[in-house]
Amino acid sequence: MSITVENISKNFSGFQALDDVNLSFPEGQLTALLGPSGSGKTTLLRIIAGLESSDAGRILFGDEDVSHQHVRDRNVGFVFQHYALFKHMTVKENIAFGLESLPRRQRPPKQEIRQRVEKLLEMIQLPDLANRYPTQLSGGQKQRVALARALATKPRILLLDEPFGALDAKVRKDLRRWLRALHDEFHFTSIFVTHDQEEALELSDQVVVMSQGQVEQVNEPAALYARPESRFVFDFLGHVN
Ligand code: ADP
Repeated sequence: MSITVENISKNFSGFQALDDVNLSFPEGQLTALLGPSGSGKTTLLRIIAGLESSDAGRILFGDEDVSHQHVRDRNVGFVFQHYALFKHMTVKENIAFGLESLPRRQRPPKQEIRQRVEKLLEMIQLPDLANRYPTQLSGGQKQRVALARALATKPRILLLDEPFGALDAKVRKDLRRWLRALHDEFHFTSIFVTHDQEEALELSDQVVVMSQGQVEQVNEPAALYARPESRFVFDFLGHVN
């Protein structure tokens, strides 16, 4: 399902975090939102998810205007930098959470929830950790559980906010490869926020470069390398990182 962002603006007490942003995210593609800290990446992601409202503009999923839809009705998977797992719940319970909290008429039967959680545990290759608590997991394992939780309701859109930012280099590399493989298998439309240009170029089909609440450029990773004027953007980002 494609995502269209039309004329989105957001002001926080006089500060223009997003200024008339227009973008399209093609169906089945993995897009990196790249830019220095404070350029509006997270705000845009949260508006797409329905976690934040915009002051102006519209968000479309396919042809449908979802601007006024509640986050719960958008069926978007969301992964945060700091995992946001529930500490008092086991891995299994964390993964099932999104399904258990669906309204009764949309909630699958208990047996199906159990089977779906088992499948997801296999997929993230952590079947033996089902009954552990988040404090007993490494950072990489926690982020895999967070991904499984985001996928439990079978979303067609997956949004990731600096998903690997808190992990060390080796784990980050493994998880990047794994996310790409997962994406290629399930064909979500995915957007991930990063300020790491190497990660953006390696992982994505399309890179959106943001600066001060506006879109600086949109391109394929290879074209970003090839365009001499892009060096400006990378010098600029490199300086900030
Ligand atoms: P990025 O993800 O690119 O680092 P953000 O979208 O998080 O940028 O933030 C853009 C700007 O908006 C920042 O200057 C930030 O301080 C501000 N901002 C974000 N959320 C809020 C908020 N809830 N209240 C006030 N200011 C905010």
